[in-house]
Amino acid sequence: MNYRVHEIERKWQECWEQDPLVNRKREHASGKKYYCLDMFPYPSGSGLHVGHWRGYVLSDVYARMQWLKGDAVLHPMGWDAFGLPAENDALKKGIHPAVSTAANISVFKKQLKQVAALYDWSKELNTTDPDYYKWTQWIFIKMFKAGLAYQEELPINWCPSCLTGLANEEVVAGSCERCGAHVEQKKIRQWVLKITAYAEKLLSGLDMLEWPEKVKLMQKNWIGKSEGLVFFGKVKNSSLTLETFSAHFEAFAADSFVAIAPDHSLLELLIADSSEKNKILEVCKTIIDQRKAGREEREPVGIFTGAYLLDPVSHKELPIWVASFALAHYGTGIVRCSAHDERDFAFAKKYGIGLTPVLFPKENKELTERIKNLEICYTDMQNGILIAPAMFAGRAADECRQEIIDYCVQNGFAQPKITYKLRDWLFSRQRYWGEPIPIIHCAHCGAVPVPEDQLPVKLPDVEKYQPTGTGESPLAGIDFWVNTHCPTCKELAKRETNTMPQWAGSSWYFLRYPNPYLTDEPFSQKDMCYWLPVDLYVGGVEHAILHLLYARFYTKVLHDLGYLPFSEPFTHLFNQGMVNKYSEKTGLVEKMSKSKGNVVNPDEIVAEYGSDVLRMYILFMGPPELDCEWQDNGLDGVKRFLHRLWSYLTAPERIILADKESGEAKKRTHKLIKAVQERLSLFKPNTVIAAFMEWLNGVTDNNIQLSIKNIESILVLLSTMAPHISCELLERVCRKKLEECPWPVYDPELACETTDTIVLQVNGKLRGTLITSRESSQEEVVALATAKLVKWLQNKRIGKTVFIPHKLINFIVV
Ligand SMILES: [Zn+2]
Ligand SMILES: [Zn+2]
Repeated sequence: MNYRVHEIERKWQECWEQDPLVNRKREHASGKKYYCLDMFPYPSGSGLHVGHWRGYVLSDVYARMQWLKGDAVLHPMGWDAFGLPAENDALKKGIHPAVSTAANISVFKKQLKQVAALYDWSKELNTTDPDYYKWTQWIFIKMFKAGLAYQEELPINWCPSCLTGLANEEVVAGSCERCGAHVEQKKIRQWVLKITAYAEKLLSGLDMLEWPEKVKLMQKNWIGKSEGLVFFGKVKNSSLTLETFSAHFEAFAADSFVAIAPDHSLLELLIADSSEKNKILEVCKTIIDQRKAGREEREPVGIFTGAYLLDPVSHKELPIWVASFALAHYGTGIVRCSAHDERDFAFAKKYGIGLTPVLFPKENKELTERIKNLEICYTDMQNGILIAPAMFAGRAADECRQEIIDYCVQNGFAQPKITYKLRDWLFSRQRYWGEPIPIIHCAHCGAVPVPEDQLPVKLPDVEKYQPTGTGESPLAGIDFWVNTHCPTCKELAKRETNTMPQWAGSSWYFLRYPNPYLTDEPFSQKDMCYWLPVDLYVGGVEHAILHLLYARFYTKVLHDLGYLPFSEPFTHLFNQGMVNKYSEKTGLVEKMSKSKGNVVNPDEIVAEYGSDVLRMYILFMGPPELDCEWQDNGLDGVKRFLHRLWSYLTAPERIILADKESGEAKKRTHKLIKAVQERLSLFKPNTVIAAFMEWLNGVTDNNIQLSIKNIESILVLLSTMAPHISCELLERVCRKKLEECPWPVYDPELACETTDTIVLQVNGKLRGTLITSRESSQEEVVALATAKLVKWLQNKRIGKTVFIPHKLINFIVV
């Protein structure tokens, strides 16, 4: 019997299309649910690439595993189809965004079907569908009514090429994230969402999540909480009072100068009488321009304002400097500086500002001497001992933190203040292809939300959707759409013409999947209680901040408004690494891109090798959380494995009755079940495949006969990764359907094995040990070792691997 890959895969895909596996009743139901979600794609014109496959196959392994274990599984797919890319793409080709988006979706869908994931296409959703964005608008109105959406005249980041405002998050090093154009500032009326009201909740919620530490840390830093003191002080010879912020106030007695942000609103007043005024403003402008261009100097720069702050704490006069490190929106935009902060220290040294250290190490005379002489900057608040003010002298700085707060507050020097780096979310875009913001502007009543029974506010179908370039949305030019009546006073009024950013639709789509057809509510309480939160969310690390932060914000708002019984949407998050490839043009292994000529089209691979081979190779390439390198010849190894498996299991002489099966055969099967299940639960699918290969080598070399029962167990496990061949062999050899098979359970006694302890080295240095089965193949040990040494192998190229069986493995990296 030949293994006819394409015939078999077509047969099963048609079968699953007609009757999706995920909806088939399992005999071995667990009574539990499992919501497995992929970050839904933006349907671009270039189609799917193998990088997409990596995330989709990975999530599918887990969806399939839980389904096989008997869970009710929700594994949906949809389209994040609004936003600038769709519009720019459409503008380029002169086609209406709705038309090009629909065409792209149909290509994506056809391609996605080849992944053969456990998707239930009846749950498909599309953010540009009016039945969907009706509810995106509904959520905006709920936020508006709750005071979480407001308007403001704001200097915004303006992309002169995309002709729209951008969120801070969309500006990378002073350029537009989309098109790379240099971003300018422009003042314009904007809608803003008050995400800062949720700063604390967004921060504390992270603790309960099973997310990569790296992503949690990125969110923490983005929110940027610091607790500090705001000190008050009068400016010498002036009526001005300055509020200065200090996050590290323990050594406040050392404060020697004050730094003000170059764009601070009080600066003009402060230097109004200065003869150096023009020179100061010039320096400020240089700093601001460099910031906008993303070219901030490593070394802080600044200029003396000529003014002094009368410090109520020390009764000294502290010189006030403009400094590039002072940020207008952080704290009060004015900071107290001392010898105990690296940045302040460097600045003072550079400009010759006098410093007075008050914090020294315990019993280290030499170091103390060097600190006194201002040779080094000492910042150790935990161990350092204060010498001033007198009441805290001799005590560790950290230890008296709270007492210092009390002391400063009681004496009227300061007030405690918590600050966040997080800014409110700029939520309007001056573009056509987005959800219209459901607001009507009335001369008498102000901004009035569109009544909920009039939602959705549909995007008008127009000829000209090109941006106006004046800062107004193209919708502003469509009179019949713009002119309307005020819902409150019935007078003539105008519709809001800004649209929402692309993030809007993706901030709540996971709530809609359980039932995308609901017409009288966005989601049902029953579904929210049953399916949510998402059990596993898989996607690229590029969404570590924005999408994930916005989705968490929406969830928390809807929770607080009483619409959701939970406050965090994604319990477990997994970020897959990128698939890189060697580019002949650049001579480097790098991210796939058309310009580098190193893009791998999954359709071509499937046409040649079939879907199972691509699925398995994608999983076998390396630890799923790391970037990996695509190698064409890697596919052949997987192909050989599947062909060998097919010939072995379809040969009648290899099958034996269960009671005649040898102990050796049983042992091998149970060890495999154990290895596969353990490694899957550790998110190491690459090593699972190594285990399958090792098992096949073992049974082939020893010509071992297997019972139908054990073959079934192995095929059930394999079906998580290679579903077509597994289902075909189950049908041919075991006469069973996948949904009839239980998830295999191993006998711990049979699965126990003799082990080796392998020494792991990187460039000859000991980096750990690995316990492996005595029978492990070199391939398997290498895969396990690579997974374990992630820390040392990340972003490195393995030049050579030294392998001494049962003893040692040494990776030579460059
Ligand atoms: Zn742009
Ligand atoms: Zn009105």
